[in-house]
Amino acid sequence: MKQYHIWTIGCQMNKADSDHVANYLERAGLRQTEIVEEADFVLLNSCVVREHAEVKVVNKLRSLKGLKMSRPDITIALTGCMVDSRIDELKDRFPWVDLFFRPQQWDAFSEWGENRGLPILNQGETLVPQNPPVSAYVSIMHGCDSFCTYCVVPYRRGRARSRDLDEICCQVQNLVQHGTKEVVLLGQIVDAYGHDLPLKPDLADLLAALNSIEGVLRIRFLTSHPSYMSHKLIKAVADLDKVCEHISLPIQAGDNDVLKAMKRGYTAEEYGELVDHIRRTVLDVALSTDVIVGFPGETDEQFAKTMEVLQHTHFDKVHIAAYSPRPETTAARRLKDDVTPDQKEIRRAQAEALQNMIAAEINAAFLGQTVEVLVEDQRKGKWCGRTRGDKLVFFASKTGLLGQLVRVGIEKTSPFALQGTLA
Ligand code: SAM
Ligand code: SF4
Repeated sequence: MKQYHIWTIGCQMNKADSDHVANYLERAGLRQTEIVEEADFVLLNSCVVREHAEVKVVNKLRSLKGLKMSRPDITIALTGCMVDSRIDELKDRFPWVDLFFRPQQWDAFSEWGENRGLPILNQGETLVPQNPPVSAYVSIMHGCDSFCTYCVVPYRRGRARSRDLDEICCQVQNLVQHGTKEVVLLGQIVDAYGHDLPLKPDLADLLAALNSIEGVLRIRFLTSHPSYMSHKLIKAVADLDKVCEHISLPIQAGDNDVLKAMKRGYTAEEYGELVDHIRRTVLDVALSTDVIVGFPGETDEQFAKTMEVLQHTHFDKVHIAAYSPRPETTAARRLKDDVTPDQKEIRRAQAEALQNMIAAEINAAFLGQTVEVLVEDQRKGKWCGRTRGDKLVFFASKTGLLGQLVRVGIEKTSPFALQGTLA
């Protein structure tokens, strides 16, 4: 039987796209292999949001050159944000790659499959695997219209396009029938869902529809943009029993001039008011955010404002990235990347150290408490899952508990996870 191997780097969107390809290949009778040398079809799903990720993709691509030389019959394919409209340039750079297709542009991939007698894969078609994960990603919209000055995503993933509400409900129903318990709704600005659809449903409407599907235990959504987070949506999170009290709300910087240069569309004060409103409305809400340090022109004082926001807001989780100039973006074209790599690294490490202290403090408060966990996986002989607030919890049990909601008494905590025993 033919085998496939998929290597994915980057955001949850890429993971969801890779799952789509895997579902199609499984349906066509191929089987997954972890050993790339054994595969007949190799897909790399790339990310170029930061230079560091792009370097990893290029190295991975180079590592496949020898394999293609020794086995010319295999297909090597590249998708993800590295693939833009200039496919000829990529072909010149990586002549051993057989197939390039842009994220979500399934035509070229489908044509490759059809030429090999595989089933047709229609654009927009959703495929549900036989054994979906307990917690499954569901992309509810693609692309982004926001053009933050540092970000390459809109150039690579195109304009924002929301999927039809009924089609998403159908997919979730199907996933649940096959064993999924939690769905994580994905969009670059997930709270802008529906603005482009004829009847203009919004994310709160979609959450309400999904909340009524039998068998769904939990619903999450990410990533939200502060400018689109409506009071209606916040109330939906508070009122709908299956929607987890967990909001991912990137701030990116704590200084208003930096936010303006990033073209984020809000001030630090507006962000703070939004957080206050969320915390007043959604009891025990867990908040996570993204921060970029070392944006062009960022002074020590401006960075200190980001640190103040972290200190003041007490996020449960913070993704901290050093600014990386990306070709095509406004920041790369117009602003000098004048914060040195050393300064960026010092700021990144300072922000991370502060956040680790805050997360350790937040998690320590769970000591002695009993939490509800949806069991998602087994790692190193322990079961693991998440609380509604997205805390990773490990515990031991000899019984098979995958997909079940269990209660765990917390006995040990760290900034990154909780450990305990079944209550
Ligand atoms: N749409 C989301 C939002 O509005 O924040 C996030 C999507 S973006 C692909 C994921 C994260 O990558 C961003 O939140 C940002 O912190 C980081 N990022 C994007 N471009 C970057 C760049 N040029 N340098 C460093 N980090 C970057
Ligand atoms: Fe990138 Fe900004 Fe769109 Fe997020 S909202 S994907 S950071 S352009």
